[in-house]
Amino acid sequence: MRRKIIAGNWKMNMTPSQAVALVNELKPLVATDEADVVFCVPAIDIIPAMEAAKGSNIEIGAENMYFEESGAFTGEISPSMLTDVGVKYVVIGHSERREYFAETDETVNKKVKKAFEHGITPIVCCGETLTQREQGVTIDFIRQQIKIAFLDVTAEQAAAAVIAYEPIWAIGTGKVATTAQAQEVCAAIRKCIAEIYDQATAEAIRIQYGGSVTAASAAELFAQPDIDGGLVGGASLKPDFGKIVNYK
Ligand code: 13P
Repeated sequence: MRRKIIAGNWKMNMTPSQAVALVNELKPLVATDEADVVFCVPAIDIIPAMEAAKGSNIEIGAENMYFEESGAFTGEISPSMLTDVGVKYVVIGHSERREYFAETDETVNKKVKKAFEHGITPIVCCGETLTQREQGVTIDFIRQQIKIAFLDVTAEQAAAAVIAYEPIWAIGTGKVATTAQAQEVCAAIRKCIAEIYDQATAEAIRIQYGGSVTAASAAELFAQPDIDGGLVGGASLKPDFGKIVNYK
């Protein structure tokens, strides 16, 4: 059986000192043996958050990285900068990065491959707009995002990846997808992975739901057969995150 993975995405929140305080506050609340717990934090918070998380079950991840090894890319963070401090997870292709920072399926693919080269697990984000949902093209659109994100990624790598299905209309809006909507798309993503690779890879890959997850919606969402946890924004900055992690 797949192990659940429940991740927070702090986005552009928390100064380094606030990060330390939040990790210390949440540490006892997110303690569990039953799921992987990851806090994806701003780059400048990674080291202090790791120090604060020492000895706990919290893994500290990054929210982004660049796909080149080093060089003249002012402002970017390289994969080795992340691995040098022990980062094991990185969010790739969040819809906010696609919208505000011109990320495309192609750059997502480059970053996914680069993350694997460095032994970092990518949390690969996908998700449709409200217009796409209303036009009935959600599944086609998500399949395209997945197919490009995983171009030239091996089956072994894909099996270890995490995909986050985050409908854009549900992010930060308080409008969580219904359990049926979330399950339908997560099942379609798994089917797409089975088509690209094989059944074993599809059964191994972990697929999260993200978009206005709260303590009230987590249990039902995470009980779905194709939903292996969540990528949580706003609620990951609050004690509520403890309830989300211990949703059972
Ligand atoms: P919210 O949980 O704040 O809707 O954010 C979801 C998200 O974008 C996580 O990556």
